[in-house]
Amino acid sequence: MIKQTTINSEISVEGIGLHTGNKSIVVFKPAPFANHGIKFIRTDLKNKPVVEAIWSNAAFGLAVRGTVIEKDEVRIHTIEHIMSCAFALGIDNLIVDINNSEPPILDGSARHFAEALSEAGIKEFDILREFYILNEPVIFEAGKTKISAFPSNELAIECSISFSHPQVKFQSKSIKNISQDFYLKELACAKTFCFDYEIEALQSKGLARGGSLENAIVISPNGIHNKEPLRYEDEFVRHKILDLLGDLYLAGKPIKARISADKPGHQNNIRFVKEFLKKAIVEK
Ligand SMILES: [Zn+2]
Repeated sequence: MIKQTTINSEISVEGIGLHTGNKSIVVFKPAPFANHGIKFIRTDLKNKPVVEAIWSNAAFGLAVRGTVIEKDEVRIHTIEHIMSCAFALGIDNLIVDINNSEPPILDGSARHFAEALSEAGIKEFDILREFYILNEPVIFEAGKTKISAFPSNELAIECSISFSHPQVKFQSKSIKNISQDFYLKELACAKTFCFDYEIEALQSKGLARGGSLENAIVISPNGIHNKEPLRYEDEFVRHKILDLLGDLYLAGKPIKARISADKPGHQNNIRFVKEFLKKAIVEK
């Protein structure tokens, strides 16, 4: 039996958004009650609209790389790193005030968010946490992506990626029992990545305006463009797991299942969540 949590104190993080290039400040605030979930509040807009970080608010079909939530035409881009931290650090309920349409990309990893949320500390509510569990497998396939989930009494993720690129052919990694310590050391620091030939195309679509070698690993056929060496030999697949965790948390409650994801990506991850929830049952 685990109690629901929020953070203990308010803490802010600021920087520029990856796609918009706009400066933004997020303020993490304790949620006032249990069963509140994770809610983003656009403090820059009139009446400060609230967008719940839940799969049914996910926006599809946008020419974007991140996970976008939208409600009544109010959008927040690239929420996945914050969601990943909330899941991994066991934060059930949280207010995320944001003065822009996208949180800061920071160094392209989830490290700063994870550190800020850890520093804010955890406060428990007197209400039990609920989990989503399975009694039968869920298999999701779309294009080159395959994500399967099997009944399990803990969360375990096996993830693999492959590209026909000399620097990133195949990487796979399995994780389970994601403690706060494990997340901070092994996943949170893995940076987002892209291939150098993609940059022009992204920027011509108005994306990645805030992108730089400070906040993304840029891969060329001969190596990486960044001065900072890779943080892990298998950094790319670690980042994919980081992102997947964030997208899985759009289920609205933590998931206990054994998940196998081959070539995950944000939009397919959310579609998988939708399929998962059709078979999931709630457990306390
Ligand atoms: Zn990411």
